[in-house]
Amino acid sequence: MNFYIMTLFPEMVMGGLSTSITGRAMEKGLISIEAVNIRDYSMEKHRHVDDAPYGGGAGMVMQPGPVCDCYDALSARIGKRPRVLYMTPQGRVFNQTIAGELAAEEDLVFLCGHYEGIDERALEEIVTDSLSIGDYVLTGGELPAMVMIDCIARLVPGVLNNDASAEIESFYDNLLEYPQYTRPEVYRGRQVPEVLLSGHHKNIEKWRREQSIKRTYERRPDLLEKAGLSKKEKEYLAQLKRL
Ligand code: SAM
Repeated sequence: MNFYIMTLFPEMVMGGLSTSITGRAMEKGLISIEAVNIRDYSMEKHRHVDDAPYGGGAGMVMQPGPVCDCYDALSARIGKRPRVLYMTPQGRVFNQTIAGELAAEEDLVFLCGHYEGIDERALEEIVTDSLSIGDYVLTGGELPAMVMIDCIARLVPGVLNNDASAEIESFYDNLLEYPQYTRPEVYRGRQVPEVLLSGHHKNIEKWRREQSIKRTYERRPDLLEKAGLSKKEKEYLAQLKRL
């Protein structure tokens, strides 16, 4: 899978994504990540890409020319016009379901705004999806792009050592993950739950599933509506609600 990031700060995104799991995935050729500098498409002597907003107001706006020219040049080079995801607080809020859908694409372009954002005409020309990482405003789209790429990349087969782990994590099946423990068995007087030491896989699975339901009920009850619970699990949830 190929990720292209259109940005004014290539070193910021490449520095973060070249480390750890995404970095190893790049080395193994499972994914490629390329930052394309929008500033390279400025027509100005001083390589400016922004100007004051028409109608007045605070801040600067990224001009449409460098953004569209950057995308056109990228498309010409790779021989296709991939989906363009504009990072914006005005977009649909990114989540695990959207990540799963995007992971099916072969190529994705992430468009990062800065300053007061990007001239609307460039967005109308090239953007296919507007995505946000939450209801707050950041200085640029680079961190949102990194968040989304990290999340999508780990769904690409082979990127995680154990593919099953992506399937039983928080948000899979609209449940949060159960608590995890490792050595030592007792830490500061706190014992690892007995069932996890039993070696009885069925009991462990049942305990984990119940813990997931309990955690989701306590921390994110809004998710439970869409969770695929069995009849027995629904009874367990009803019991929790009565407590
Ligand atoms: N004036 C814009 C508005 O009110 O919608 C906000 C511009 S923001 C200061 C600059 C850039 O940061 C945006 O163009 C966008 O690319 C990025 N950004 C800021 N917050 C974001 C968020 N929550 N999710 C995704 N991108 C965000």
